[in-house]
Amino acid sequence: ESGATKECPPSGRLIVLTGPSGVGKGTLMRSLLQRHPELYYSVSVTTRSPRPGEIDGKNYYFISRSKFEQLVAQGEFLEWAEFAGNYYGTPREAVLNQIRSGKLVVLEIELEGARQIRVSFPSALSIFILPPSFDELEKRIRGRAQDSEEAIARRLRCAQEEIKAANEFDIQIVNDDFETALKDIEAALFG
Ligand code: 5GP
Repeated sequence: ESGATKECPPSGRLIVLTGPSGVGKGTLMRSLLQRHPELYYSVSVTTRSPRPGEIDGKNYYFISRSKFEQLVAQGEFLEWAEFAGNYYGTPREAVLNQIRSGKLVVLEIELEGARQIRVSFPSALSIFILPPSFDELEKRIRGRAQDSEEAIARRLRCAQEEIKAANEFDIQIVNDDFETALKDIEAALFG
């Protein structure tokens, strides 16, 4: 091994799934992983508090802000962003190792992080998940009802901005009918 071109994986091995919070990309991702266990899902690091039922090391690695900032300074993240008042980041080494071993690695991340990946991995396949409408997205975000009113309002403001960025990405998929959206993602990944 030359050890060079660390940021250049074999083409098409990194998949980025992005879209506004509440669009259902987490649920789509879980179904995708169930149907394709050969995919490697990158567990993110966050400073957000765990929601009921979330497990450390499975849903996220939950850490403090100071620890997160330390990891940023050490260059441990492939990308990271602040979203709705919390930090989120993708662990660098784990993902690069999986890519090097030839795996299809999938990231489910927000817009700023997805933009960073497009810059550092131009060969990544990026997919933007859209809601059928903004009203529908608001229903979904409120229906989740696990966050405070303030957090919900913040997420809605972010979502409105995020949707405008859809066509920066390779593929846009509308999550209206869940099964159809899932099949569209599979078609994008596996041809
Ligand atoms: P939630 O708090 O609802 O789990 O996630 C909020 C947003 O952060 C979602 O849009 C989710 O996709 C995104 N997110 C999760 N992990 C990461 C990450 O590692 N990096 C970035 N940039 N966004 C992430």
